[in-house]
Amino acid sequence: MSRVHTVLGPIAAEELGLVAVHEHIGYGMPGSELDTQWWKTPEQRYEETVPKLRQFAEYSRAYGGSTFVDATGICNGRDVDYYKSLSAKTGVHIVAATGFVGGDTALRFFAEASVDYLMRQFVHEITVGIGNTGSLAGIIKVGVSRGFRMKELDLRIYRAAARAALLTGVPIFTHLAVDVEAALAVFAEEGLPLDRVLFGHADDGVSQGKVNETAILGGGGRIGFDTFGYDLELPDPPFWGRHRRERLEHFLRLIGEGHLDQVLASADANCSPLGWPGVKGHTVNYIYEQLIPDLRQEGIDEATIHRIFVTNPADFLTLATN
Ligand SMILES: [Zn+2]
Repeated sequence: MSRVHTVLGPIAAEELGLVAVHEHIGYGMPGSELDTQWWKTPEQRYEETVPKLRQFAEYSRAYGGSTFVDATGICNGRDVDYYKSLSAKTGVHIVAATGFVGGDTALRFFAEASVDYLMRQFVHEITVGIGNTGSLAGIIKVGVSRGFRMKELDLRIYRAAARAALLTGVPIFTHLAVDVEAALAVFAEEGLPLDRVLFGHADDGVSQGKVNETAILGGGGRIGFDTFGYDLELPDPPFWGRHRRERLEHFLRLIGEGHLDQVLASADANCSPLGWPGVKGHTVNYIYEQLIPDLRQEGIDEATIHRIFVTNPADFLTLATN
């Protein structure tokens, strides 16, 4: 049977409903939890987060449920006991990630670890549990450090992730899809089929012209349009923002070229950011409030919307059996 790990236990892929495949309950740089300027009480975090997840669950009724994939990983504020309570309160399935957002956010302890050590850490979190939470990670996060070039540590993490993915069947998603040739070489050397990898943030404003889409799509990889909503039209847009129209046209172009089964979409929003103010006015619910209406306006039918947000992510998140 198809199976996906959520923080409250394994579920059948058919139960996922609409999936927001790259989101954050709360992302922060390592150490932000020690900064008194940004420290939040548990009550504040619940207050900022629960209404967003409840709204997401409400919107998702039509899709038979909702799943929120938390792309935070180790060292960036991941808090699985908190995720479990959020999931129980709101009914949103939450998938937690092992792995790291990028080499540059892995704390020194892990930065000095070998491929084998990192691989065993990931496998432990996927098969035994994350800390003492009893929850199994359902996906592995990897990424490119700042500077748009893969560093040695990034590559070490990618290789460990590829090995852990092959051993456990969970998929991998990446922070950034730039400098992808180096990543593709690692996955090829390790023998990981590219449909197990979602190359993320291919749609953001700063990555344009730096993503080899032909190599990713030609190799069977998946492309993440997962920063939907970081629009330059926002009152205070982030540096990775992009014009809404331009991002939408880019997405529609890939679908028009026959890559519907290789695209995934999400908002990369923070319910309650840690150590930074976040981007005002941007939540996971952008998917329902702006993106799906935009797609309908462009003539995208319901069956296609279902493929993008239900079928494709279910196929991606289902544990692969070797
Ligand atoms: Zn993210």
